[in-house]
Amino acid sequence: MRCYILFLFPGGVKVKVLYRKIEDIKDSYDVVVTGGGLGGLTAANVLAKNGSSVLLAEQHFQLGGLATYFRRKQHIFDVALHGFPIGMKKTLRKYWSQEMAGHIIQVRRIRFDNPQFSLETTFTEEDFTEKLVKNFGLALETVRAFYSELKEMNYYDDRRMTNKALFEKYFPGRNDVVRLLMEPITYANGSTLDEPAITYGIVFSNFMSKGVYTFSGGTDLMLDMMEKELVRNGADIITGAKVDKVRISGGKVSGILLNGREVKCRAVLSNANLLNTVHEMAGDEHFSTDFIEKVNAVRLNNSSCQVYLGLKPGERFENIGDLLFTSTCPSFEPEKILSKEISSRTYSVYYPEIRPGSSDYTVVASMNSRYEDWENLNAEEYKRAKQKLIDDTLNALDKYIPGVASKIDYAEAATPKTFKRYTLHGKGSSFGTKFEGLDISMKLPEQVGGLFHAGSVGIIMSGWLGAANYGVIVANNLDKYLFNS
Ligand SMILES: Cc1cc2nc3c(=O)[nH]c(=O)nc-3n(C[C@H](O)[C@H](O)[C@H](O)COP(=O)(O)OP(=O)(O)OC[C@H]3O[C@@H](n4cnc5c(N)ncnc54)[C@H](O)[C@@H]3O)c2cc1C
Repeated sequence: MRCYILFLFPGGVKVKVLYRKIEDIKDSYDVVVTGGGLGGLTAANVLAKNGSSVLLAEQHFQLGGLATYFRRKQHIFDVALHGFPIGMKKTLRKYWSQEMAGHIIQVRRIRFDNPQFSLETTFTEEDFTEKLVKNFGLALETVRAFYSELKEMNYYDDRRMTNKALFEKYFPGRNDVVRLLMEPITYANGSTLDEPAITYGIVFSNFMSKGVYTFSGGTDLMLDMMEKELVRNGADIITGAKVDKVRISGGKVSGILLNGREVKCRAVLSNANLLNTVHEMAGDEHFSTDFIEKVNAVRLNNSSCQVYLGLKPGERFENIGDLLFTSTCPSFEPEKILSKEISSRTYSVYYPEIRPGSSDYTVVASMNSRYEDWENLNAEEYKRAKQKLIDDTLNALDKYIPGVASKIDYAEAATPKTFKRYTLHGKGSSFGTKFEGLDISMKLPEQVGGLFHAGSVGIIMSGWLGAANYGVIVANNLDKYLFNS
């Protein structure tokens, strides 16, 4: 039985599909997708469309994973809708629906403001080239050569060159140029200067070629549409349902343990954190010693903090840009961006137009951060540290929205602990794992028949586009496995 519930909110009545209850799911499926992040959702949709019987099990009460939203007062806060590359339009059209692809719109005003430079850009190759030549005084040939090298990079290239070496090759001693080219990527996937340059090349070429895009209607609408599409394609969805164990017999997946109930399946596609998938859901004993050694060397990516601000009804402010990369740090140092005493923030400014018909203004400030800085605070220290995050953000934002503190009626902060609680990612990792995780993720089915993983790993597969596209790649591999086994 599938239940329906009515939600009332500004803009009218909406019918929301309510998910299956544990007693209503079937005893057996072709595939169980564990986790409803963008990788899991997209994989589940591809598999269901291809005719497999699919159960999507999400431990949280809401789908979306990190690509989520929440409602407080009259506000809807988007957690991870700052922007993604244009490729998301094709991904939505091919693997979801034309209607969803139609919601992709360009983020118009992207600003940088730091002690080294202040500028506005459309995030296109043409605009970046012009800025690098006119504002930063670089030779056009150097900028073109840099772009050419990036475009030729692919996953199978030499991985020894680091981002640092790449920037030194083209822009020696130019920390300001590195800041312009690297800061948005550091925010987007936790990259540092020590990452393999190919990860930067692949992500940058995607991101900074044709601008930055967003989903008109907000994350809530997108997830609502995804959920309905999944149900239309025959997938069963259950939320509040944690997959505790993947059952493995004779080296192959045979089922899962879900909220105490055994469910049979021929394959599992885990969208949960890669390390949880191996160590907790499957268990080390099912993998070779060599493989587990490599898994143990996989580093989790860093985490995030966010501050969510909602304006009082009737309050407004002038357009200050849609995406603002701000900092008071004199130079660009990715490690400092992680510091708890943060001076760098990315503001995503949501004007009412993002949700046509709404009059709500919200601002979401994002900061990269380390789980270790937050994990051992006692309750009182944690509360104080969160309040400081909010107060510091309001002070910093006052430069762009004068009097902002008196305009808001809601402020809340999220920390690495928050991200961990809602997604179960180790150390609240916002962007999965570092580069070495991708190889492990891809090789899981060689170790355990029918065990697949998709989600942000290896930096390249991070972000909305990376996670969704990786979901498609893995779903296709899983399809082949089902056909051949
Ligand atoms: C603050 C922030 C801002 C971001 N901004 C952007 C942005 O502007 N643009 C962009 O492209 N990307 C952004 N990202 C990154 C992007 O949101 C993520 O990379 C992407 O959504 C991750 O998708 P995923 O498929 O890896 O799954 P995740 O989102 O990690 O979801 C995994 C899901 O699995 C579930 N799960 C875990 N364990 C179990 C279990 N045992 N049983 C059942 N379910 C389980 C979790 O609850 C979760 O729902 C941002 C991330 C953060 C944190």
